[in-house]
Amino acid sequence: MKKEPWYAAESKLRCKRLGMDPAVPPSFSARISEEELAKRRSKHEEILSVVDVFVNRMFEQTKEIPLLIVITDNTGCILEVTGDEMIKSTMMKLGINVGLQFKEEDAGTNGVTLALQHRQPIQIIGDEHYHNFLHESACYTVPFQCPDSEEMLGTLTVMTAVTEHTPFLLSMLCTVTDAIERELLLRKKNRRLHLLNQIMVEATTNGIIVTDKEGFITEYNKFAQKITGWKREQILGNSVQNLQPFGHYIKCLLQTGERFEDIELVFKNRETQNDVVCLLDVHPIYDKKSKLVGAFCQFRDITERYKAKERMDYMAHHDDLTELPNRRFFVKKLNERLKLAQESKETFSIMFLDLDRFKLINDTLGHNTGDLVLGIVAKRLKTCLSEQDIVARMGGDEFTILLQETVCMEEAERIAGKIIEELRKPLFINGNEFYLTASIGIVFYPHDGKNAEILMKHADIAMYQAKERGKNSYVVYKPSQDNGMEQLILESSLRKAIGNNEFIVYYQPQIDLRTERIVGVEALIRWKHPQLGMVSPAKFIPLAEETGMITQIGEWVMKEACRQNKKWQDMGLPPVRVSVNLSTRQFSKQDITRVVTDVLQETGLNPGYLGLEITESMTMNVEHAVHTLRDLKNLGVQISMDDFGTGYSSLYYLKKFSIDHLKIDQSFVRDIMIDSSDADIVSTIISMAHNLGIKVIAEGVETEEQLCYLKEQGCEEVQGYLYSPPLPAHEIESLLRGAKLKKQYS
Ligand code: C2E
Ligand code: MG
Ligand code: MG
Repeated sequence: MKKEPWYAAESKLRCKRLGMDPAVPPSFSARISEEELAKRRSKHEEILSVVDVFVNRMFEQTKEIPLLIVITDNTGCILEVTGDEMIKSTMMKLGINVGLQFKEEDAGTNGVTLALQHRQPIQIIGDEHYHNFLHESACYTVPFQCPDSEEMLGTLTVMTAVTEHTPFLLSMLCTVTDAIERELLLRKKNRRLHLLNQIMVEATTNGIIVTDKEGFITEYNKFAQKITGWKREQILGNSVQNLQPFGHYIKCLLQTGERFEDIELVFKNRETQNDVVCLLDVHPIYDKKSKLVGAFCQFRDITERYKAKERMDYMAHHDDLTELPNRRFFVKKLNERLKLAQESKETFSIMFLDLDRFKLINDTLGHNTGDLVLGIVAKRLKTCLSEQDIVARMGGDEFTILLQETVCMEEAERIAGKIIEELRKPLFINGNEFYLTASIGIVFYPHDGKNAEILMKHADIAMYQAKERGKNSYVVYKPSQDNGMEQLILESSLRKAIGNNEFIVYYQPQIDLRTERIVGVEALIRWKHPQLGMVSPAKFIPLAEETGMITQIGEWVMKEACRQNKKWQDMGLPPVRVSVNLSTRQFSKQDITRVVTDVLQETGLNPGYLGLEITESMTMNVEHAVHTLRDLKNLGVQISMDDFGTGYSSLYYLKKFSIDHLKIDQSFVRDIMIDSSDADIVSTIISMAHNLGIKVIAEGVETEEQLCYLKEQGCEEVQGYLYSPPLPAHEIESLLRGAKLKKQYS
């Protein structure tokens, strides 16, 4: 005889005590209302659905056995009855149906009550039931609870015929409830995770987009909305393909599984239309079976950081003053272009441009004006170039131009010509009108150099050649003219030249056309370089100006010229004027009058025999020029305006300056017989000068014809190879002795 389980025995005893009759089926009076039932069912919705899943699995495994499953809540109220229809209808006849509240007092010994009471699996087989009508059935009940809390959730009961009884059914039920509990726990955790996820998704300052495996957007947080300017409502449920630039990456991940990290995206915020820069990560979402089920995309707004970096990059690659690219940027772009050209065997051109006499603007009008001028020059340069060309400021008044697509010399020359024209247009700054010119050197890749360094060096050399040729022009580099090395040697040795007594002064006679006598000499410096031989001042004067050494050199020339002139006079030679060239720096310095005074005093030369040659450009600062020239004039020295016609100062000012002589530049004289307009200019200059009471000296007179013309126009003095080149002092001495000069070529 089998032994009844203790809980059944105890229950039966209780029922007996209550006076229940085992032969009378229970009446099951305790029922809940339909409404209450619906409420409870909905409360247990998740449990019911989980139980449903597992119960179905259980049915699968126990196909042969007719089973009825009863699910109750934690009060013993039946929420669901499912399974074998036969048993179900029998039970229904007895009133065992959804909404029934199991109680020991009604139902007698039953699994549901006992399982909830003892919190353990219960089986009541056949006559272990209190009521006789249940003696044909076997019932197995397992309570289930929330595994992470002690809360009892309900019971799961399997009923079958007593003949089908096997302990296996209970253990299977236990396994099933275990699985249900685990699943419930998992879901709860997931819910929490989901919640956390929600919090994360909403709290993060990153934009988050989640899609399903089809690429439909399932999540789009408020930062994604803020960063992109797309509204969540417009986005959710849509295909990510329409959400560019993210769509591309997400689609790619969904198709190939490829992840993306730190992808830099630039796009416009749809609402503000501002540019946004983001760093994007795209990760796959897998299910438990490692199947790809979607994409998780996260992006950070780095616009501010990017802007700062961009600004830094910009600053590192641009010149503050003109906003043009700087040397670093230029070299970078040049190298890029070189690489391309090497691969495709293309040719291109670069130009070096240097403003003529820019120092003068700085020295005379101040740096602020100089800065304004550079700004204007930058703008003008840009107008001469196409979009893809690059113009950069290398520093000071130097610019470089990369002509990306210029393949032929004509084209480069055309552009250089255009630039020169453009820069020649008058500048109006602070009420002043003045003019600027530029010298340009042009090189071609690969003809003039295969790398950036050589190309730039050669362009620089060509530019210097343009300067030597009288500025305001361009020169296309020719390899044979490479004097880069010489330039380097010059720079390093110029400093030592004075101390080493390498400078000497040559003198070029100036002849009065009426008397054909020497009335003056121009002091022209020469540099006897130990290695290079005689170096032309056209080469080293600009260098001396640049380095500031010109002040010292100029003073030395002035002293030497005055000393020499005094010496000639002391020797009893006919007295002549010695003219000394002043540099811009010397002239713009406040102490020029004092320097001249000192020199005259030291050498004992009568001021009337010293001439000072200034150029038009030195008078750009009109006020300074007027004062300085008046002071110099008061000393008794004579003033000549040198190279007249090449500068651009207004003729109007000439009368304001105390000028004795005007020297017509040799470029006009040279072409008198060739170019009628030059002849016209010369005659106009002469008559205008005369109107102002200024005498005229013509420079660079080389031919009899030139001389004739000049005489006709009433020019007073000439200077040029026709009479004599610049000569060392002792040769001048013999000329002065003869007093009247023979013409060289006549
Ligand atoms: P510049 O003051 O206009 O000097 C006249 C230049 O023309 C001299 O060149 C002279 O040799 C040259 N020349 C004279 N006659 C003829 C001729 O018939 N045909 C041609 N083609 N050229 C002729 P140089 O001596 O080479 O001087 C060049 C420039 O260097 C000078 O031009 C002057 O601006 C500057 N320079 C020379 N010495 C000094 C100096 O001591 N101080 C400063 N600041 N500049 C100087
Ligand atoms: Mg001169
Ligand atoms: Mg001159």
